[in-house]
Amino acid sequence: MSCEQPGLIPLESAREALLELCIPTRETWVCPLADALGRVLAEPIRSQIDVPPADNSAMDGYALRTSDLEDAAPTRLPLSQRIAAGAQTRPLAPGTAARIFTGAEIPPGADAVVMQEQVTEDGDAVVLPEGIRPGQNIRPRGQDISREQEVIAAGRRLDPVALGVLASIGITEVCVYRPLRVAVLSTGDELVEPGQPLAPGQIYNSNRYLLQALIREQGMELVEIGSVADTREATEAALQRASDEADVILTTGGVSVGEEDHVRAAIEQLGQLRLWRINIKPGKPFAAGEINGVPLFGLPGNPGGALITFALLALPCLKKLQGAEVPAAFSVPAKSGFSRTKAITRDEYLRVYCDSEGVIHPYANQSSGMLSALLHSNGLALIPGGRVVAEGTLLDFYPLSSLLR
Ligand code: AMP
Ligand code: MG
Repeated sequence: MSCEQPGLIPLESAREALLELCIPTRETWVCPLADALGRVLAEPIRSQIDVPPADNSAMDGYALRTSDLEDAAPTRLPLSQRIAAGAQTRPLAPGTAARIFTGAEIPPGADAVVMQEQVTEDGDAVVLPEGIRPGQNIRPRGQDISREQEVIAAGRRLDPVALGVLASIGITEVCVYRPLRVAVLSTGDELVEPGQPLAPGQIYNSNRYLLQALIREQGMELVEIGSVADTREATEAALQRASDEADVILTTGGVSVGEEDHVRAAIEQLGQLRLWRINIKPGKPFAAGEINGVPLFGLPGNPGGALITFALLALPCLKKLQGAEVPAAFSVPAKSGFSRTKAITRDEYLRVYCDSEGVIHPYANQSSGMLSALLHSNGLALIPGGRVVAEGTLLDFYPLSSLLR
């Protein structure tokens, strides 16, 4: 039997309530395209040109007028010009064909290209097969992007594809939001940094590296606050400093119910606690609030819970604060390759591997303290609270690659 846990907030309502409170940054700057990876567009981009700018050949082959072709037999046409990619073209003389290469502009008058493998060369002429259709192997002007088209909307985080597309329309600089400054602080007297010896009772601070990397991957700026001792004074001092220096604060640990947990009380002292304790496993002790108007997300200390609450709750808010679009969490139905006969009341996010057949295999140990379980997982699978799972049941599978994107 599982026990009811009153006061736990459903994940969806928590996310909605927190997103509601997030006010996107307005500060923008103009940045060269080459430096724009990971930045969020502050203005939509319209194309000033057609891409491609002219009809061009999709093949190495021969350009021709289909009106010059025999009806039901091969046609011999003399060659009148040779057009390489990048060369200027001139009108195709009637009754002739042009040697043409991939990407070269179609000469005015030509309306089809035949690939060279289908053509027989015959001195200064070519013999073309029957059955050539108008438009064949021609990439029309504006096929990819047309002039005046909105190519990318504001709020889009610029990834390699977006940078390539912007280059294809000749953009040299973009107006983006200034990256958020995110303070990361880890609470816990037991924490030491890698490089230091471990004394009895101590563990290495893994959350700090985890969160730093997650923030960097978002293209945001880190404000290093470091580790904070488990005292009310140290916690308040660190949070005060973080709220002075950053646009948003991420903490780990110290949000549970023990008397060594000071983050929640410190938030209440310095600012406002907005919500605390979510109906999920792992990640229950998540807290959120604000200090001097600076939003704060208090992630649990257990690294598994820290990553899951970061992905499901903090990251959507960080995106909104950064001015980026916030897509709904992406999931696909996948078959459970296991059974679960005992239900729990909380929604459980299992760390799982979904194989190429679409079957979900949970990592053997689901302890929230284990970070390495995520090394062997490619996503999370949701078992809704109160449900048992028979083998073959469809569960929502959330790929980590989309969750952390
Ligand atoms: P807490 O939420 O502070 O009660 O911590 C819960 C568990 O997470 C404890 O076992 C902590 O030792 C562990 N923990 C807290 N912070 C970190 C951290 N930064 N890196 C690794 N483990 C941590
Ligand atoms: Mg602690």
